[in-house]
Amino acid sequence: MTTTQVQEASRLEPLLASCREIIEDPDFSTAKRWLSDHPGKKAVGCFPIYCPVELIHASGMLPLGIIGAGNQIEIAHADSRFQSFVCSIVKSTLELGLTNRLEFLDGMLFHSICDPARNLSSVFQRNFPGMYIEYIHFPQNFTSPLSRGYLESEYRRVLNGLQERSGHAASVDDLNRSIALYNRIRLALRDLYQIRTESPHLISAAESFALLRAGTLMAPEDFLEILGSVLGEIPTRPARPKDRIRVVLEGSFCELPPIGLIETLEQAGCYIVEDDFLRGWRWFTEDVPISENPLASLATSYSERAYYSGTKHDSRESKSAHLLQLFKEKKADAVVFQAAKFCEPALFDYAVYRKALEGAKIPHLLLEFEEKTWSFDRARSEAETFVESLLFD
Ligand code: SF4
Repeated sequence: MTTTQVQEASRLEPLLASCREIIEDPDFSTAKRWLSDHPGKKAVGCFPIYCPVELIHASGMLPLGIIGAGNQIEIAHADSRFQSFVCSIVKSTLELGLTNRLEFLDGMLFHSICDPARNLSSVFQRNFPGMYIEYIHFPQNFTSPLSRGYLESEYRRVLNGLQERSGHAASVDDLNRSIALYNRIRLALRDLYQIRTESPHLISAAESFALLRAGTLMAPEDFLEILGSVLGEIPTRPARPKDRIRVVLEGSFCELPPIGLIETLEQAGCYIVEDDFLRGWRWFTEDVPISENPLASLATSYSERAYYSGTKHDSRESKSAHLLQLFKEKKADAVVFQAAKFCEPALFDYAVYRKALEGAKIPHLLLEFEEKTWSFDRARSEAETFVESLLFD
């Protein structure tokens, strides 16, 4: 590598470090700074998994990923609103609200992914009467020819609410511009994941996770610029491949694992060549078409161009077949199923995946996590034993 290349590569580290700072800030300083630089603009929070962010953006507002608080805050008030057997993300998201950290938002969007998310939406409505709260009902029966038309009308209803709140009527051009912007971001993210598959030593899963999560906490235009810089600089990074196993990671599509847990898995000898972190922010397998009817484009894409997900309830496809296909495509050695504690959709999926993986004789490991996990000793020892059993078999 030339001296110039080393200098270029060194610019990557500060960029990734700043992403890490953004995701560890429970006060959303980056988004607040953007709002103060853009007087009159409003922000709307998106609970996972998938949110049609284009509707928010085209209405002139800033979509932000409100995806729990990780291990950055103590749960002091939200425990009293939920049973003890509910996943952490629901409680920590409410705690963000109850500690006034979401006061800068104008609204929050929730979706029909599971009962805890549905209940969280109602709890938000009761506890924050001044906030615009919307709940999107996604179709549950994709075999019905009516499902796409239904979702288009659901998007129209949500868009009307957003427009009322922002005071800006989103035109067809506005919607297409927003779709095009997010298409570019999703394409860049597909490129990032392709690099992870082909050269996992060049960018770790923990770094990619921090980059992606930080992108949900800033203006999409700014994120696109950062993504462009990162993608441009990764190939010049002075890194050598290590003797590790290649794993596909499943099950972390909603509640986010502590970044320390991802690092632990990598240090234990795994190259995570594919994962479902922040799946909703890179939901589509290809671009959403630009058309005369952008809401129909978005609705059709939800049905026809989306990644498989246990929360999509799509009976047309076998989730296990997708996972086995992914395993093959990514030339993986194993699957790690990393699910949030008490996450019913993920744990229901695991029962199905486990049967398929055993049938195909694919090594797999189950790890459960909570947002607030600080110690990863047990996960480290399980992962190390798992890796050694594959490397020295
Ligand atoms: S972590 Fe699982 S159970 Fe909890 S809100 Fe997300 S999908 Fe629902």
